[in-house]
Amino acid sequence: MRAVGRTSRIGDPFVDVCIVGAGAAGLHTALSAAERGASVAVLERGAIGEAASGNNGGFLDCGYFSLDFEGLVARVGRARARRLVELSVHGWAVARRRAAAAGIVGRRGMLTVSRHAPGGLRGFARMARETFGLSVDWVAPGELGDHVRAPHYHEGLLDHRGITIAPDAMIRALAGLARAGGVRVLEHAEVRGLARDGGRWRVETSAATMIADSVVVATGDAGALAGPEAAPAFGLYSHVALSEPLDPARVAEVLPSGLAVADTRLGCDYFSITNEGRLRWGGRLAGGPQPRESVHAALARDIAATLPTLGRVRLERVSSGAMHYGRARMPRIGRSAAGLLYAGCFGHIGNATTAMAGEVIADALCGDERSLRLFAPFAGRRGGALPLPIPLPARSRLVAGALRARDALDEMRARAAARRPSPDDAPPALERPRMPALARVDVELVQRPDGYLVRSRAPLRPFEPTLVAPFRYWARVIPRATFLAERGPDGAWRELRWGEARRTVDALSARLLAQGVGPGDTVLIAAPNGIDHGCLVLAAMQIGAVVAPVSPAHVSGEDAFEPRLDAVLDLVSPRAVFTRDADALAGSDRMRAHLRDTGAVHLYARGAPGPGNLSAGRIAGAPDAAVERAVAALEAGTPARITFTSGSTGRPKGVVATHGMLSAQQQMMAQAWPFLETARPVLVDWLPWTHVSGGVNSFNMTVRNGGALHIDDGRPTADGIGRTVENLTRVSPTWYTNVPLGWRLLVPRLEEDAGLRASFLRRLDMALYGGAALDGDLWERLRRILDTRPGGAPVIGCGWGSTETTSTVTVTHHAAARNGEIGHPLPGLELKLVRTGDGFSAHVRGPSVVRSYLGDVGCPIDDEGFYAMGDAVGFVDPQDPERGLRYEGRLGESFKLSSGAWVEATLLRTHLLAALAPHASQVLVAGPGRERLVALVWPASVADLDHARRGIDAALHRFNDANPRRTRRIAAFAVSTHALSLAAGEITEKGTINQARCFETRSAELAALDARALAVSAR
Ligand SMILES: Cc1cc2nc3c(=O)[nH]c(=O)nc-3n(C[C@H](O)[C@H](O)[C@H](O)COP(=O)(O)OP(=O)(O)OC[C@H]3O[C@@H](n4cnc5c(N)ncnc54)[C@H](O)[C@@H]3O)c2cc1C
Repeated sequence: MRAVGRTSRIGDPFVDVCIVGAGAAGLHTALSAAERGASVAVLERGAIGEAASGNNGGFLDCGYFSLDFEGLVARVGRARARRLVELSVHGWAVARRRAAAAGIVGRRGMLTVSRHAPGGLRGFARMARETFGLSVDWVAPGELGDHVRAPHYHEGLLDHRGITIAPDAMIRALAGLARAGGVRVLEHAEVRGLARDGGRWRVETSAATMIADSVVVATGDAGALAGPEAAPAFGLYSHVALSEPLDPARVAEVLPSGLAVADTRLGCDYFSITNEGRLRWGGRLAGGPQPRESVHAALARDIAATLPTLGRVRLERVSSGAMHYGRARMPRIGRSAAGLLYAGCFGHIGNATTAMAGEVIADALCGDERSLRLFAPFAGRRGGALPLPIPLPARSRLVAGALRARDALDEMRARAAARRPSPDDAPPALERPRMPALARVDVELVQRPDGYLVRSRAPLRPFEPTLVAPFRYWARVIPRATFLAERGPDGAWRELRWGEARRTVDALSARLLAQGVGPGDTVLIAAPNGIDHGCLVLAAMQIGAVVAPVSPAHVSGEDAFEPRLDAVLDLVSPRAVFTRDADALAGSDRMRAHLRDTGAVHLYARGAPGPGNLSAGRIAGAPDAAVERAVAALEAGTPARITFTSGSTGRPKGVVATHGMLSAQQQMMAQAWPFLETARPVLVDWLPWTHVSGGVNSFNMTVRNGGALHIDDGRPTADGIGRTVENLTRVSPTWYTNVPLGWRLLVPRLEEDAGLRASFLRRLDMALYGGAALDGDLWERLRRILDTRPGGAPVIGCGWGSTETTSTVTVTHHAAARNGEIGHPLPGLELKLVRTGDGFSAHVRGPSVVRSYLGDVGCPIDDEGFYAMGDAVGFVDPQDPERGLRYEGRLGESFKLSSGAWVEATLLRTHLLAALAPHASQVLVAGPGRERLVALVWPASVADLDHARRGIDAALHRFNDANPRRTRRIAAFAVSTHALSLAAGEITEKGTINQARCFETRSAELAALDARALAVSAR
């Protein structure tokens, strides 16, 4: 029967899913179901936002439930507890995505404080990180004052992912998103009964009747409609007040880091500062409704007692709401009959877990019940909703009374403990080694006529429009932690802490503005990696200027660099030029002429005093307000950085990365390698910031994740590796990357030197190499070194990308990846593999990929928006494409011999370098159209050239014996003592040889070799 009563208000009464209750649980479920293609209606008895979801404290926690972790593990075991926490994290991500879609700006960071005896939060932090992969830090008692100045608090726990949102705006936004997505949301439609009608459900409301295939009861206390499984065991009331806008200076005194705060008591106080500068304060747990006046007075008393230095706070609005709990204090999510599901009892952690419930229910509606089953242990009892024969209100009052008594007892104990000697407030000890957390591989492979499309199924989570936001966040919440460290001329380490970095960067921004450098201007940086360099990058970027780093050799005045500098100055006309030393431009007529002609400023860190000397610090009266205005004007599309490619012709191309591209790239990395968020990374890194691997990957990874970057002044050369060893012996990295050449020099040192090995392995999560495979048995040797660490070996990772893709496109996601594997595309990126001969040419599309080059230079982007990488990749296992990808070399680098046979030049070079180890540092194999292959070899050390020559000669003979085919065999070779030139574009700063360029610059040496090869073949 389809005639079902009054339909005027509800339109078509038939829907796939009918949801009862338009709180957060109902609306999130509606959105998740609609996203999966269902037709959905939501029926709400009152108006949107009147219940708990619109009147709560606004804490959007990441990874929590009302039941604590110990309780969760005790109840369901570690593995299930992990899955449940992952689901809660997913709920947080979904809620954040929806908040962002509705333009709701949350405030990042939460602090849990203990009013009880100190010590508990430290262990909790460890468990949260190590067992559940959450991004938290313990705050020692001595550091709590950096965040909140309140007499009753002992220690803290920073939660870096938690955010606070305005709950009323959020619930309205969810309703708006649902309606925009085609969901019918009806207010003032109380559901009074559910009845089975054929295979469907008949939903009787005060306004109309609906017929649905499935019904989801999301009324907070779903028992009345969905049965005893869904019924709460008890309910508690909590109250939230909103103050008048407060004086920001007064707030900063009491809450210096501006974080939202909640204490650990069962009936806790929780408070935050809203975007409008009001105090949102919640607390006063009760077993039933309370008179508004007494709640108002009690909350005002609590504020005065807890934050006495805040002064008088006038409360403008007070609201109350009920929180429902199951016996285990876990959400009740499940199915009580065919087509009848329920989601409720979220307790005091509902803002993220309601979004989680929506996803769990929507998956179940689509037939995937794996997540739903995880909640089965928390359902209410069948055949008896009440564990005690006491009515719900009375039971709730009893529970509230018991909780308050326990809190009071705990606090008494805390006071007694405070009279005993103060606890250890040393920084937390290094954690036990463990296997780092990697994202699960979940790729989608779409077959196309010309090849494949490969992409991650994990959606890219919302990211900040600019990395200035995380920079400022970390400076607020970990002001005392190291951000950058470098070795001075005397060899001593100098550290810049996060708090100091913020002050320095702001002062530099103000200075740039005062000196006429503003949004859209280019700041050319011709300085080595260093603290001053890093601060200037952030200072320029945060006011909307564009940084363009080039190697310091560009302004050295060397003839060889002049054409490159000309090309750079043609592409960008910098408004400021930064060098480390005051006299760095003395030799460069070209650069001095630019400064003279354009009025651009020269800034420097060391040397003569003067207006360009940055170490002079803040300029008196510098426009700080202008800095804040410039920061506020930043958008994802604002250009942030120009990276110059090495260019196969020696003429660089300028690749522009916007703030959003840089931020997207870091979000992708954090999703693939979650350990980056779980424990703040520590890097020891030499990679030059002129390149994306150093300047974008390593530097921005530090900024995005609150890390510490120790600038390694060593180099992957026979002479420079000693310094790297020294630095790695002193500082233990958690994430370490090097180019294959660097690993070739470091691995033997790690094998020999137990002290270096111990320091290197102490807390390492990942050892990374880029692009090409590690040669010979190097990978296996590194694996063996890493495996010596007891308690869990670090992972070997590999990434592949280019300047045009703002660094990484694919990374290995699993610990089992073997040498040469480059893994899978990062979330948010799509890789198109176009069949070319036996392999595939790689093309990439996504939010971190370039759209054009600077100037009049064409960018290889096809009509589908894919950028052609110019690289060949293949599947690790063509029978099982999900095992990931393998790098197979530069497409342009393979060439044909005169016989027409193809030479895989990249691969051959890698194999040759392995065969010539440890005698050679670089090899150039030539070349197109020849009858036979010839090679130029550069020795690893010129100290004993004869020894190197003999070693290379013997090794090449062995190689030729093992590789008799013309596409592998080297007919003639020479050891070149004429070093590869950075200036001429023969080699990049990272040590990658530019084959095409070398064919031009080394034509004479190669011609001589060709003659010798001919003579050999004639014999
Ligand atoms: C004061 C307070 C502060 C809190 N602070 C936080 C916090 O900071 N962070 C956090 O994560 N959680 C917090 N919580 C908990 C969180 O608000 C809840 O867990 C969450 O909002 C529950 O959402 P819900 O959709 O299940 O319930 P509700 O928001 O209660 O929504 C249920 C809806 O169903 C409707 N309904 C009921 N019966 C019917 C019916 N028969 N027919 C039609 N409609 C019906 C109701 O009118 C209501 O709109 C707080 C709770 C309170 C009370």
